[in-house]
Amino acid sequence: MKRSILVTNLCVIFLLFSSVFVYAENNTGAEDPNTTRTENIASVANTNPGLLQDQPLEQLFFDVPASHRAIKEINYLATGKIVSGSTDGYFSPDRHVTRAEAAAMFGRSLEFNGTNTVTNFPDVGQSNFASGYIQAASDKKIISGYGDGTFKPDKIVTRGEMALLICRAFGYDVTNTQASIKILMSKGIAQGMVDGTFGETLPLKRSDFSVFLARSINPTFIHNYQSTGTKNAIIKKEGLEVHDGPLLSYGVISTLVNGEEVEVLNEFGNWAMIKSQTTEGFVQKEYLEFTSDPGTTPNPNDVYEYLKSQTIVIDAGHGGHDPGSSGYNVQEKAVTLDVALKVQSYFAANSPFNIKLTREDGKFLELSERVALAKKWNGNVFVSIHTNAVNGKVSGTETFYYSRATNPHVEQSRLLAECIQKRMIEAWKLNDRGVKKGNLHVLRENSMPAALVELAFIDHKGDNKLLTSESSKDLAAKAIYNGILDYYKANGINVSAFYK
Ligand SMILES: [Zn+2]
Repeated sequence: MKRSILVTNLCVIFLLFSSVFVYAENNTGAEDPNTTRTENIASVANTNPGLLQDQPLEQLFFDVPASHRAIKEINYLATGKIVSGSTDGYFSPDRHVTRAEAAAMFGRSLEFNGTNTVTNFPDVGQSNFASGYIQAASDKKIISGYGDGTFKPDKIVTRGEMALLICRAFGYDVTNTQASIKILMSKGIAQGMVDGTFGETLPLKRSDFSVFLARSINPTFIHNYQSTGTKNAIIKKEGLEVHDGPLLSYGVISTLVNGEEVEVLNEFGNWAMIKSQTTEGFVQKEYLEFTSDPGTTPNPNDVYEYLKSQTIVIDAGHGGHDPGSSGYNVQEKAVTLDVALKVQSYFAANSPFNIKLTREDGKFLELSERVALAKKWNGNVFVSIHTNAVNGKVSGTETFYYSRATNPHVEQSRLLAECIQKRMIEAWKLNDRGVKKGNLHVLRENSMPAALVELAFIDHKGDNKLLTSESSKDLAAKAIYNGILDYYKANGINVSAFYK
């Protein structure tokens, strides 16, 4: 199917997808007995009518009717020849995915060589339909064998294992299932089950695998995906074909002229997702010349990679035999630990940052030990959390930074302090006592941008209420999280996808 331009079809396509959206919403009610065993895609129907929306809704498989919850994703992958059904025309959407099938689907989407081959595994013969992909996926460390040297090609993949495989296949740096689930959830590739859990031990259905894979390959399948250009490029080939997906097996939806300027929306392997005046789709990256444009922000994948390399050190003030300040039977050391742990949760659940806590329990640490840890971890940002006390009458929030030469990052530290202070004031609406210079050990002796926030006065009755309320502490943690994002934003990093 070859069309020079998509525009004339957009209205029709949008209407089609609108109706699917409504259907899907209604189709996930509790009366469906399979509901809790099925990936929640109720809200996934695409809201970007301008994007890549010509995947057929006609029935390609007898058992995937137009009303099927994953027809869009299944058809999309089938169109690119990433998945296929049986020779008699069935897809078996509820059948579980074997390890061999998973290797084949990843292999096809990543353009691995799938030619049958001798493998390293005694239980995967050359005649196995996936032998080439299994060996390639093993070589690329996406799927490994078992301790006894076998691969177990017919073993069923669980949803948790799938999360880990997708992360490995698409280059997200994770070491365990829990982390990979968090990454997929934060990127919108997985939404979890209708019952709110991820169902990591449940066997993975072919339909759900299709949903995850389609979202990984083509982010327009992600709910609320925002197609914002991240950098610009010039087309270097006359008549460059724009495909429906990042494989040559996807249909050509339009062509571009030599010299045409496009926005780059995403990059995937050898492919880039681009947007021009008239079309959006996938082109081979080798035909793009990226132009440096100081007015645009970095590619989100680049940002993601960059943020992954950034270590945020959160320091819960006091601890152990040092209770810190106190008031109304509450000790500072307990409040600071609570808030620090909540900050950690925000980072872990919503961002690729590397998040470290100087203490995660009630133990005592010297100030010098806190700084030593931050240095050992090569921290990029250090935030110490405290509560104030004076005479029971003073209320408010203030944030400190160190302004002299010991810590070389004076301006960055001031910026960090301002970002956190601003968010804290918005969150708790206490008296704004401002950003101050403070000669404090954990700031002075540190070697990275560092700030110390005094959330509120623990000996002030009103402030104390905030410091002891779970929901208020959660707001403070969110404020610190967003404040650190603001700090990166002020440094020119596009962190907009990570705000909570
Ligand atoms: Zn303190």
